[in-house]
Amino acid sequence: MSGTAAQRAFAVGGGPRPTAVVALCGGVGGAKLADGLARVVPAGELSIIVNTADDFRHLGLWISPDIDSVLYALAGLADPVRGWGRRDETWSFMAALRQLQAPDWFQLGDADLALHVERTRRLAQGETLSEVTAHLGRALGIAARVLPMSDDRVSTRLLTDEGWLDFQEYFVHRQCCPRVQRIEFVGAAQAHPSAAVLAALRRDDLRAVVICPSNPLVSIEPILALPGVRVALRDRVAPALAVTPIIAGRAIKGPAAKMLGELGLEVSGVSVAQRYAGLIDAFVIDAADPPAAATPQMVLTRAQTLMQTPADRERLAHAVLAQADAMRVGLGRGGM
Ligand code: GDP
Repeated sequence: MSGTAAQRAFAVGGGPRPTAVVALCGGVGGAKLADGLARVVPAGELSIIVNTADDFRHLGLWISPDIDSVLYALAGLADPVRGWGRRDETWSFMAALRQLQAPDWFQLGDADLALHVERTRRLAQGETLSEVTAHLGRALGIAARVLPMSDDRVSTRLLTDEGWLDFQEYFVHRQCCPRVQRIEFVGAAQAHPSAAVLAALRRDDLRAVVICPSNPLVSIEPILALPGVRVALRDRVAPALAVTPIIAGRAIKGPAAKMLGELGLEVSGVSVAQRYAGLIDAFVIDAADPPAAATPQMVLTRAQTLMQTPADRERLAHAVLAQADAMRVGLGRGGM
């Protein structure tokens, strides 16, 4: 790649028609835009690379929270009120667990439990996480390809004022209260992105790469930490854009803003954009944010990024893809 990302030109004509879209995402925030993209990208053309560094074993079950959020969002099964898990869920399992005085800090709804049991059963039979996830996606009627970032084990842990904590211990059990001083992705340097992940990023019919509005520090950066992912992103043949997870200095949900502040970083969309410098061509800040100064590293554009309804998701997905298309054909680089 020559020049800065914002000066980069993308070929027009010659290659195959650009139809493939790749999204990178974590759980609940990212899954909303992934769902929007799934509504506007033709079936089979969307690949969603999902963080698995939050995965953990609990009560003997293998749980992949971000994959499950994406599966439930795309299958139309996500609970819109709670913001996680399945809609119309029942809780007999948790009630019975409590009666047995078993660990009950991680909520597992009855229908959700079926998914963890089946994933764990298939993994124990020797299937990879990619194979299991492909099966679950098919079973739930999802046309997009949901790709775990890796079949190797990577675990986020955080150094806090209470010492080192595993991610779910920090996120769920301690409800993000401890102050974060450092974040590590244990195993990332030795792990491999799955073959499907690299193949998706290297497609020569790529239309756009979209980094969804996910927590940059614990949802997107574990994906970027895998050997080969940054190189594949830099070598891509289509524009890459990211959407802010921070609106008017606040996270919609979760600890992204708190973590940025505790790590001494500015709590803003632009601060998130800087973490992706060199990897993306454009960053979408929210229309509610004050105008940001231009940067030589990428184009800053603005859009309504709050997704409260399925229509909001779809509108943002259209806007992001329109911006990518405009960048590819050189029609313009500002305003969405
Ligand atoms: P998690 O793994 O479940 O925490 O989910 P993600 O990392 O994918 O998403 C968390 C981030 O999504 C938080 O920083 C939220 O601020 C952000 N987020 C959630 N909903 C929205 C939304 O509707 N619009 C935008 N722009 N960001 C959102």
